[in-house]
This record gives sequence, structure tokens and C-alpha cells, in this order.
Amino acid sequence: MRPFGETIFAEMSRLAAETGAVNLGQGFPDTDGPRSLLDGAARHILGGVNQYPPGPGRPELRAAVAADRERRLGTAYDPDTEVYVTVGATAGIAAAVLALVEPGDEVVLFEPMYDSYAAVIALAGGVRRPVTLRPDPGDGGRFTFDPAELRAAIGPRTRMVLLNSPHNPTGTVFTRAELAEVADLCREHDLVAVTDEVYEHLTFDGAEHVPLASLPGMRERTLAVSSVGKTFSVTAWKTGWVVGPEPLVRAVRTVNQFLTFTANGALQLAVADALRDETAWVAAQRDALRAKRDRLAAGLSAAGFRVLRPQGTYFVMTDIRPLGHTDGIAFTRALPGRAGVAAVPAQVLYDDTEAGRHLVRFAFCKRDEVLDEAVDRLVRAFAG
Ligand code: PMP
Ligand code: GLN
Repeated sequence: MRPFGETIFAEMSRLAAETGAVNLGQGFPDTDGPRSLLDGAARHILGGVNQYPPGPGRPELRAAVAADRERRLGTAYDPDTEVYVTVGATAGIAAAVLALVEPGDEVVLFEPMYDSYAAVIALAGGVRRPVTLRPDPGDGGRFTFDPAELRAAIGPRTRMVLLNSPHNPTGTVFTRAELAEVADLCREHDLVAVTDEVYEHLTFDGAEHVPLASLPGMRERTLAVSSVGKTFSVTAWKTGWVVGPEPLVRAVRTVNQFLTFTANGALQLAVADALRDETAWVAAQRDALRAKRDRLAAGLSAAGFRVLRPQGTYFVMTDIRPLGHTDGIAFTRALPGRAGVAAVPAQVLYDDTEAGRHLVRFAFCKRDEVLDEAVDRLVRAFAG
């Protein structure tokens, strides 16, 4: 694990705190989730829900997750055997990879890749095979992949495809046609898919979140992972879930019982209620984030960045070359001092560092006045 060091998100948040910079680096909202959710957690804690919940999670939450997925996405899962609660999506993904990837097995995934993927593949002794997402010059800079490159990444040792949609950090929401390319290869080569859907509710402009498991022949080979952090603006709650066919979920459970064993029970009960009762809050939050995306994107353009427009998540990728810079790591290390703003260099999320060298990510899950202050500072530093 030596090459992994400190995560980029922790490093940039520390730098922001040290310099008093506006932190648009690490993705976390600066407002709370729905009041009923917070009240629910407090009520359950004071009501005595403070001992180990059942290993697979509170039945109330497993039932709520299954009902929510069936209602929104049309795929049915048995809450007793096909839904499993984890300590955030991070633990769900880790348990899935550790359960299913043997030393030497290859995992195909898209880069830029969320930082925990590379780390957990290394922990499993697996080999990552990234396929690079590149901005389409004609489509607002939407990042997509070349199907031939995806096909070429698959070999005799490929075991798993790990897919994140909506995608952090590019904001791409994979289309049904793109997912069909992935599904075809999974079926053809008998691969397992793990889908990271933590931004499933955060899609804009009519982009539809399509779960890979809903494509023909995919339910029986897909573990879908999601969590509460982004959906309800409570990133500290670390409450997530894995859903899939019983044999794959059982494998996750076997591993996870020795990683974290269980997750916080009081929070699980509060989340179970919110999944059912707070759908209007989630929709309003999505609309608010779309407006914030537009607000920050306009400001970044005014400061001179090239904005690569996201269709989902709460991140926007920018190209810093119009500002006369080419190295995102040097740029983001200097940015708090130079402009009083913190961001994240996308380069660290690539194996092909050339492809990501000039890309910098900003988070827009912040109050409007915070976004405006960041934009003022960036415009003064670069376009003033
Ligand atoms: N996957 C992606 C793509 C993320 O951006 C995050 C959020 N940091 C996670 C997983 C982790 O989610 P959780 O906090 O539920 O572990
Ligand atoms: N998912 C968050 C991001 O991409 C950060 C989570 C973390 O700090 N590990 O910014």
C-alpha cells in the first residue's frame, strides 16, 4: 500500500483549512440533509437502538432499499438474501472486490477512477485495466469511451468490470447504449459487474440513471452499490448497501463480516424512513444542484477555465490550459495560496497521467454565497 499515501481529498481539505481557502476540493455539502432524517437518527439513539444490528443490516432498511429500487428502477430484490447493508459504499465496494477478485485477476474500469478502486484492487492482489474516458469536443466536453478500447482491455484474466455512473469526477451519466457495450462484454466473457451508483439521484438535463443490472442478462451477474451520503447530504453517516443475486451478495457478506461486521443501526432505521418519505426532498436537492452547477460553471468560464459540462454528480471538470497552465497537480497545490480556493487535480485518478494532466475538478455542492465567493476569488486571480 506504500504508493497510495494520503488521499488527494484529505490533502486538499487540509491545505484549504491551513490557508483559509474556499474548499471546492473534497466533495461534501455544506448544508444538512432532511430534518426528519436527522430527527429520526436522534430519536433512535435516545430510544436505545445502540447495540449491534443484525449482520446483513436492519430488516427495515433492507426492505426500504428493495422497495425503493423496485419502485424507481423496476428491478426486484429479496430484502432478506439480496440486500446487504455496509459502512458506506466504500465498504460495499471493498467487500465486493475482496470477495470476487483473486490474486492476478484483472478488473476493467474507467479512468479517471475514484481513488478507493485502485487501492482495494491492490488489496485483493488484482490488476486494474483502466479504459480512459475522454471529453467529446462536440458534446459540451462530455466524457465518453471508445468501445474498441473497452473491448481491447478485456483478456483471459479479466474477472470484473467496475463501473461508476453517474461518474465522479467527470459527471458523465452513461447512456443505455454505452451500458449495452459493457453488458455485451460481461455476458460474452462471463464477467461480474460491480456498479457504484452513489450519485444515482444527482442527474440533470434529462440524463437518466440506468442501472447496469437492468440490462438483459445483467441482474444475475451485477452487484449494485449505493449509499446515503450524496442522496441525503450526510456524507459522515457512512451507511450504504449492496444489492445483487444471492450468491454474489453472500460472498460480500462473508468478507464484510470480518471487515466491519455491521453498520450503525440507529442511522439505518432513520435512512429506511427517509428512503420512503423524503423523495420530494431528494428531487428538490437535485434541482438545486443543477442551478449550482450552472452558477459555478458560468463563474469558472468567466475566470478563463474551459468547463467540461457534467450531466450528473456534484462535480465539474475543467481544463486549465486556457489559463496558460498544463499541470493540474502543481496548479491545485498553488491555488489556495494564489486564489484562496481549493480544488482537486484529476491527474491522480488516472494511470494514463498524460490524459488527466491538465484537468482539475471543482465541487459545487455548496451554498450559493460560497460558490460566489470562490468565483470572485478565481476571477480576481485569473481574469482580474
Ligand atoms: N464512490 C464514489 C464515486 C464516491 O464519490 C464516493 C464518495 N466519496 C464513494 C464511493 C464513497 O461513498 P460512501 O461515503 O458511502 O462510502
Ligand atoms: N467522494 C468524495 C470526493 O470525491 C470524497 C470522499 C473522500 O474524501 N474519500 O470528493
